[in-house]
Amino acid sequence: MKKTVLITGGAGFLGSHLCDRFIKEGMKVIAMDNLITGDMRNIEHLFKLPDFEFYHQDVSKYIHVPGQIDYIMHFASPASPIDYLKIPIQTLKVSSLGTHNVLGLARAKKARVLVASTSEVYGDPNVHPQPEEYWGHVNTVGPRGCYDEAKRFMEAITMAYNQVHGVETRIVRIFNTYGSRMRLNDGRALPAFMGQALRGEDITVFGDGSQTRSFCYVDDLVEGIFRLLMSDYHLPVNIGNPTEITIKQFAEEVIKLTGTTQKIIYKDLPKDDPKQRRPDITKAKQILNWEPKIGREEGMKITYNYFKSLPNDTIKPKDF
Ligand code: UDP
Repeated sequence: MKKTVLITGGAGFLGSHLCDRFIKEGMKVIAMDNLITGDMRNIEHLFKLPDFEFYHQDVSKYIHVPGQIDYIMHFASPASPIDYLKIPIQTLKVSSLGTHNVLGLARAKKARVLVASTSEVYGDPNVHPQPEEYWGHVNTVGPRGCYDEAKRFMEAITMAYNQVHGVETRIVRIFNTYGSRMRLNDGRALPAFMGQALRGEDITVFGDGSQTRSFCYVDDLVEGIFRLLMSDYHLPVNIGNPTEITIKQFAEEVIKLTGTTQKIIYKDLPKDDPKQRRPDITKAKQILNWEPKIGREEGMKITYNYFKSLPNDTIKPKDF
């Protein structure tokens, strides 16, 4: 019997890559999405497959899925600062009410559930790099609060279902990730810079660009998540690439890769923008025997080729 996996946010950036991975593993995949930030084009290649189904449902409301489910991957959520500034209430609901629904479904189906948490639970960290034991430094009432606190609640309720109802749970803390199917207009650094290069606009670095991030290529991330799902470890695990870079250097790398003749322009740093971020991946190495394999040069080239291949009207900035 084939295993069945439900992937919430299945039409999104990470969700759609997970759909591909589980199909490759020979499983039946049900992708669920309300398409607020997800995009059907990310999964249209899967529709012809007998093992793939799509449910247009909002996981923050009651969800109904008939039949057996073996695994649930909860990846529904806006995940870029611009998105959650625009739709903070949906952002709060999907990781709180949505997680509650997902856990209830997992309990009813006796499914194992993996929830997508984030490095944002560490806030603007004053411990560097960030190990899983660090409790974080989050502004509950700042612009990122709706995302950060909802994800922290998600972790708490996931632990409670594990302890009270014996649901098999996994928690991944995802650090900055990039790759094909990111939305060019989602405001994150990589699609912003590459979109600007493609449109012949200046590259907008926020602040003085000295803030750091550590960017992981999507295939590496998916591999780490898959291993975590198959492991027996229920506490949070960081998955990300520990190679740290300043945002200014990152912009310079995009300029070099794309060959754009545009220059860097500096804009105000958004409120509560973390000054530094790098995962401590000791646990992932020990427990999952995982570490990233794809460097930025290779990963960014693949991603840029993807953006270049998009139809022209997709490359123009627009609202979701
Ligand atoms: N950033 C930037 N210019 C942009 C978009 C983002 O300088 O056009 C900066 C942003 O301020 C942050 C970093 O790039 O310091 C990464 O931003 P992103 O939105 O990708 O992720 P997050 O802040 O959630 O890590």
